[in-house]
Amino acid sequence: MKFETLAIHAGQGPDPAYGAVMSPIYQTSTFAFQDYNQPGPFDYTRSGNPTRKQLEDCLAALEGGKFGYVFATGMAASATLLSMFNAGDHLIIHDDLYGGTYRLLVSVLAPKGMEVEFVNLRDLDALRAAIKPNTKGIWTETPTNPLMNLLDLSAIAEIAKPKGIVTFCDNTFLSPFYQRPLDLGIDIVMHSTTKYINGHSDVVAGAAITNDPELSDKIKMLQNAMGTAQAPFDCFLTMRGVKTLPVRMERHNSNALAIAHWLEAHPKVTQVLHPGLESHPQHELAKRQMSGYGGTFSFRVTDGEVAKHLLTHLKIFVLAESLGGVESLIEQPWTMTHLSMPEDVRRKLTLTEDLIRISVGIEHVDDLIADLEEAIK
Ligand SMILES: *Cc1c(COP(=O)(O)O)cnc(C)c1O
Repeated sequence: MKFETLAIHAGQGPDPAYGAVMSPIYQTSTFAFQDYNQPGPFDYTRSGNPTRKQLEDCLAALEGGKFGYVFATGMAASATLLSMFNAGDHLIIHDDLYGGTYRLLVSVLAPKGMEVEFVNLRDLDALRAAIKPNTKGIWTETPTNPLMNLLDLSAIAEIAKPKGIVTFCDNTFLSPFYQRPLDLGIDIVMHSTTKYINGHSDVVAGAAITNDPELSDKIKMLQNAMGTAQAPFDCFLTMRGVKTLPVRMERHNSNALAIAHWLEAHPKVTQVLHPGLESHPQHELAKRQMSGYGGTFSFRVTDGEVAKHLLTHLKIFVLAESLGGVESLIEQPWTMTHLSMPEDVRRKLTLTEDLIRISVGIEHVDDLIADLEEAIK
């Protein structure tokens, strides 16, 4: 079946109890045993729940995976996944990644004895050189936030696989509609489903998908042991969002590309960081690895004053962090999403005052461009 059909039907069907076409929310902590010493298919919601199972099966199908798991937040997903490693294990992490993942690694896992090393994984020789006998995992994110750099996932998987190193990809920015890391050889895909997969800015949640039965068993055990699973009501909302993922992504993609082209021609805009533009240094890789570009990208204006004027004179774009919802958002990494990074690190990474990130929603593109046109002065 094709993606659009799976989004609406995979893992879902009329409810076995009364034939409800839309699955009910199994808002229960516990399930009656069928007989003495005989639990039914579910016994306790931390370990498993029918509403959650539907979402897990649907997301697995969309990523081309066999096993799916959903979590209370994207960070709960990452924390659970990274808990498969132990003190003394060496982890290689792409050096340009979501700030929350960086904080989890540096503030929580490294102090417990995991060897966390940040490497620019665009440089495959640097990756090869960083691998040590105790290297157990490689964590990637592509495109990266907010600089829109890309990683070559199949090349990374090819280096890791013969060495038995587990590879991860945070696929939040594109969703499985535009990028399927498992097909490229990555072992585990992770999502903040808070973003495009739910798509309505009304849930925080996360997911992990794999094809490997051993890794799946580990994730299942950790999800239950750590108690990080997503609650039934949030699963229901996410499931509702998933059904329209393909049509939303197409609109996000076309709106964002049109705005990127418009910005590229604007005299106050000095650079547009969008992998769908010919000017993007990794445009060829984008075309090979992704089937679309999503709705989030960044651009630079001439200086911080122009940026400030822009951010304070918009009527449709909302000044807010996060991304992937139906409504358009705008933010300045310097003062918002990346403020927790020390100033010298932000400068070194060029997350400076002139940089703006937008999450283009699914409003009419003419209104969005008119809004930007009024505000960039
Ligand atoms: C938002 C985000 C996360 C964290 O997800 P939460 O749902 O906020 O916990 C992880 N990775 C990326 C790329 C994100 O954008």
